[in-house]
Formats: sequence, C-alpha cells, structure tokens
Amino acid sequence: MTKRSVDVAIIGGGAAGIAATRKLTAHGVDCLIIEARDRLGGRACTIRHPSGYALDMGCGWLHSADCNPWVAIATAQGRSFDKALPPWGRTTMTEIVPAKTQRAFRAAMGELFARVSETAATGDDRPISDLLPPNGKWNGMLNAVMTYIAGAELDRMSTIDLDRYDDTELNWRLVDGYGAMIASFGEGLRAVLECPVTRIDHSRKRIAIETSRGDFDANRIIVTLPTSIIGDNENLFHPALPAKTQAARGLPLGLDDKLFIALDNAEEFEAESRVFGRTDRAGTGNYHFRPFGRPMIECYLAGRLARELEAEGDAAFFDFAVDELTALFGSGFDKRLKPIALHRWGADPYARGAYSYAIPGAADQRAALAAPVDDRLFFAGEACSRHDFSTAHGAFVTGVEAADRVLAAHRL
Ligand SMILES: Cc1cc2nc3c(=O)[nH]c(=O)nc-3n(C[C@H](O)[C@H](O)[C@H](O)COP(=O)(O)OP(=O)(O)OC[C@H]3O[C@@H](n4cnc5c(N)ncnc54)[C@H](O)[C@@H]3O)c2cc1C
Repeated sequence: MTKRSVDVAIIGGGAAGIAATRKLTAHGVDCLIIEARDRLGGRACTIRHPSGYALDMGCGWLHSADCNPWVAIATAQGRSFDKALPPWGRTTMTEIVPAKTQRAFRAAMGELFARVSETAATGDDRPISDLLPPNGKWNGMLNAVMTYIAGAELDRMSTIDLDRYDDTELNWRLVDGYGAMIASFGEGLRAVLECPVTRIDHSRKRIAIETSRGDFDANRIIVTLPTSIIGDNENLFHPALPAKTQAARGLPLGLDDKLFIALDNAEEFEAESRVFGRTDRAGTGNYHFRPFGRPMIECYLAGRLARELEAEGDAAFFDFAVDELTALFGSGFDKRLKPIALHRWGADPYARGAYSYAIPGAADQRAALAAPVDDRLFFAGEACSRHDFSTAHGAFVTGVEAADRVLAAHRL
C-alpha cells in the first residue's frame, strides 16, 4: 500500500525529480515521487533494440562532461563511457560537403554566435533570426543547425537566453544509455507510477495532490513537470499561479524527434560522421551515421518539420529521411535502410515536446519558474536552469537546488 500522506511530494520522476528525491531521502526526509508514466526517467529514456543495442530516444550526450554531475553517478554505477568526438566536432562526409565548405559554414556559425553575444549584452532580446545577414549564403543551414540544437527555428528563439547557455564542449556518451543510467539512479526511491497529477490544491495547510488514482497530501512539494504541462493547464494549481503559467508559456518545449534506421553495408561510411539533408532550409534532417560504430543512422528531425511529420504519423518520418538520404547518396540507397525505432515527443502526453527554449523577451522567465511559492511549493526541471537549460545535467542541478531549499525551509 502506498502511503498517501507524506512530508514532501515530488511531482514528476524525470532527471530533476530523481535528483531531488535522492537528496531528500539521503537527509531522511519522508518523500514520494508521483509520476504519470509506468517508469522513472521522463525525457531520459533508453530502449533496448533486439540486436542488443541500447538506444537513447531522449538525452544521449553528457554535455559539459567535465562538470556534469551525472558523470560521477555513471562512474559509480560502473558504466562504460564513449569519449569519441561528436559528429559536430569533426569534418566528415567531405564527398557530400567539401571540407572547405564545412570550414566556411563553421565560420558563419561563429559569427552568428558573436552577434548573439553582442546583441544580448545590450539587453535587446530580439528573435535570433533578426541577426542573420540579409540574404546570407548560410542562413538556411544556420537555421537547420540551430533548429536541431534547440528544437525551434531562429525566429522563435530569444537572443539573451541562447547567450546564457553554457557548455564546456566536452561531450561523452554511455554505451548502455544515458536514460538507463538515470533510471537506475531512481531505483529504490519511493515512487508511485502511472499516477498523473491533475490538480494541486495549496489553499490549506497541507497541500492536496489530486491524481487519477486518488488524492495524496504533503507539507511541501517539488514540481518538476515539463513547461508544456504547466503552461497548458491554468487550473493545475488552486489557487491559480498565473506567474507560473506565464513563465511556462514563455519557455515552450521545442521539438526534436529521433529516428533510428538500420543501414546495410554501413562500413562504407566513417563512424560518427554526419550530414544534413539540405543546406538551404531549416526543415531538414540531421543524419548521424554509425553512432558508436553501429550499423545504423541516428536521424534528428526537429522544429516545425517534426510537428508536421508527427501529424502524419510514424511512417512519415522514415519516408522523409529516405527521400533526403536517397537524394544525397543516389537511388538504390533506400534498399539499404530499415526503420528501427522512433519516439514522437510532441505526441507524448507527458512531455508534449523535447526541451525548452525561451521566446524573445522571456529569458528571465527561467528564474520566475524556479522561484518557490510560500516556502511550500518548489520548482525544478531543465527549464528552471539559467545556463544549462534543455539538458539532463541542468535538470539534475535544479532538482538538487530545490531539495536544498526544501531542507532549508524544514530548518526554519
Ligand atoms: C530527443 C531528445 C534528445 C535530447 N538530447 C539530450 C542530450 O543529448 N543531452 C542532454 O543533456 N539532454 C538532452 N535532452 C533533454 C533531456 O532529456 C531533458 O532536458 C531532461 O531529461 C529533462 O528532465 P526533467 O526532469 O526536467 O523533465 P522530465 O524528464 O520531463 O521529467 C518530468 C516528469 O514528469 C512526468 N509527468 C508529466 N506530466 C505529469 C503529471 N500530470 N503527473 C505526474 N507526472 C507527470 C513525466 O512523465 C516526467 O517523468 C534530449 C531530449 C530529447 C527529447
């Protein structure tokens, strides 16, 4: 029987919720994760392919590996890291895009980032698309790469928020999956699964957490729900918390869907190489060949394109990728391809997107989202992070910070 009255309830058991609960549990706090899915991990999700490969459908890269707190946890779990240079750090597929062209594009990307920093320093939070040179040769490609990174096109993205993003540019992976490692870190924590929270009533001394499987109550809560869930539901909190709804709406989730495709005679391609389907528009795929040296292509389809493909159904992703790859590698290439796995994060009812970006003018909403209410409602999750938003390590840090705030409130 699950205990329904606890000291602290953690709403959502992804990276942030697990990190918060671990910390509270270590301090002897009576706490419980209330999670909608039948598993912990949220947007960190590894599936096992019948061939034995672990496939990360959500986070895969331990970004900023030299200061990423998950690295120590993965090490303690005895996991194997892959420290190969990521495809975006290499010059690859020169038969499709000559090395000189790739260098020129990198220079254009550097110039765009420099303009982002200069503009952000003035406090002018305009859409990043305003900073593209008129009729710039690389504008389509810049938009494609940024849409893949952020899940949203440049016309929707805040200059100041992007400028605040921090990255040490050391990127590692886990052979058995980032999602699997995060889920393992949650093992043994008290959690109730398949229990979507529908309303949080904080009008009385004890907070009532209404779920599809009955009510729970707690003295304090940590809310780690994705911004899509908070922003779409004005009635989630009672009394309403319009500042939270507004903050969440300023930080929508972009979309990035991963499709894995098996590739025959894969050795023809260099391991960890990549190519974009097109260089002239944002709506194109990013194709990572032979990740970990495996005989497959990891395809990223992002932004508005991914929304459109999701509306058409699973098959549309594979068809789109095959069309682009055949256009690059010649007719007959399609015969070498077979779909393996896809997760549609936009259609996922407990994510409704991939990771957060700030719309122009909303960069400071991250702090507004993270701010506690009455020392009883605390907030965590990747969108609350000022410098590491959209990442699993950013989520971790916000979870620990929220737990620290709960512990401090307990001592009052
Ligand atoms: C395709 C993709 C690729 C990515 N790649 C990377 C990467 O390479 N590196 C990286 O660092 N990050 C990456 N990310 C981002 C990273 O996965 C997320 O930032 C991180 O996992 C978010 O953790 P969180 O705890 O903030 O949110 P979540 O993981 O979303 O946790 C929130 C939890 O709340 C639950 N929930 C939702 N609604 C309810 C409800 N009503 N009641 C109860 N529970 C509910 C959810 O099921 C979920 O478990 C990627 C994400 C995606 C989708």
